[in-house]
Amino acid sequence: MQTVNVTNSNQESLNPYEIVQKQIDTAAKLLHLPQNIVEILKRPKRVLTVNYPVKLDDGTIEVFEGYRSQHNDALGPTKGGIRFHPDVTLDEVKALSMWMTFKCGVVGLPYGGGKGGVIADPRNYSHAEKERMSRGFMEAIADFVGPDKDIPAPDVYTNAEVMGWMMDTYSRLNGKYSPAVITGKPLSIGGSKGRSEATARGCVITIQKALQELGLPLESATVAIQGFGNAGRVAARLLSDLGCKIVAISDSQGGIYDSNGLHVGEVIECKNEGCIVDYPNAETYITSEELLELDVDVLIPAALENVITSQNAERIQAKVIAEAANGPCTPDADEILNTKGTLVIPDILANSGGVTVSYFEWVQNLSHYYWTEKEVNDRLYEKMVTAYDEVRTMSEQYSVERRTGAFMVSLLKIAEAMEARGWV
Ligand code: GLU
Repeated sequence: MQTVNVTNSNQESLNPYEIVQKQIDTAAKLLHLPQNIVEILKRPKRVLTVNYPVKLDDGTIEVFEGYRSQHNDALGPTKGGIRFHPDVTLDEVKALSMWMTFKCGVVGLPYGGGKGGVIADPRNYSHAEKERMSRGFMEAIADFVGPDKDIPAPDVYTNAEVMGWMMDTYSRLNGKYSPAVITGKPLSIGGSKGRSEATARGCVITIQKALQELGLPLESATVAIQGFGNAGRVAARLLSDLGCKIVAISDSQGGIYDSNGLHVGEVIECKNEGCIVDYPNAETYITSEELLELDVDVLIPAALENVITSQNAERIQAKVIAEAANGPCTPDADEILNTKGTLVIPDILANSGGVTVSYFEWVQNLSHYYWTEKEVNDRLYEKMVTAYDEVRTMSEQYSVERRTGAFMVSLLKIAEAMEARGWV
């Protein structure tokens, strides 16, 4: 297993597992929660490490290492994505599973948190190799997951096609069609309408609420988006449809800027064929780090963890940060941003639209009755607005920033379930 950057030059911990433990401590202290509840929540309940062989196209075998972490199942089966990324670590997967518990709690879903990851860069493999890599991972974790146990979904560098392969592998192993074992599937095999747009749609709803709260008009808001995977791409399209000016977009290779607003449709077309930096009509080309510091109304980090830290938080100029990614701001960055008056919509709220529609997908699979896109979107809207308002109320009541408020909303629900089950 590879090692992560443990600290940056300000000696700030960049280990997501330590970061989430700190976030739990902060919220639990304010709520005066009993220490035994905190001790249970500070580590995952079960973690599985697998090493599984995959035959490559040239006939050689590569052994992949992967993890599945199940943090807490007080509220229901564990739920959360599977990512394929070269920098995946066990601590990262554990932390991501913990954020999932709090995410499901904030938005009121009957789930605990889970997460999986495989150390691999899928961009370096053929389509057939990716299929074997996906099926192999599901085979390796099949006993550990299940519709009433732990339900995976897409995450970084995995998508509906991967979910389809995994669902098929699980169904074959169990000798029965089991769509509810995984969400984010293609529509033809039990996927939900609206799921592929849900993370971004939910995020946009929270941005609308935040701008309204600050008295800033949505129609003329300027937006910068770091990361152009599913969430970044759909958020750009939805926001530009609402009249916002998307002035900057980046992906892992670099970014583009246009003070008059980028043509989102053209940028998406360009990304479909390669990289953002291949886009010919930008005013200037910028780095992904420079994008974060632009003078915009809304900044959407939609890539990976730890991009806003004590090193650059002071230079962030956005009025609203909507965390479409998981864990983009460190606790030290949060403190600086809070002092500056930046409204940070925390990941566990801002990107909870994805798991919310995953929940709708699971409900549809279990009841074998499928909803219209309008039903899905209306129910998503209701869940997001309720969660946003609950977090705002809690934060104002305790005079804390929104991340702590969101953790507190969630912690109360989880602690109540743990007590009702007699765990503490
Ligand atoms: N991977 C997404 C997340 O981090 C979605 C999880 C799900 O749909 O279960 O929230």
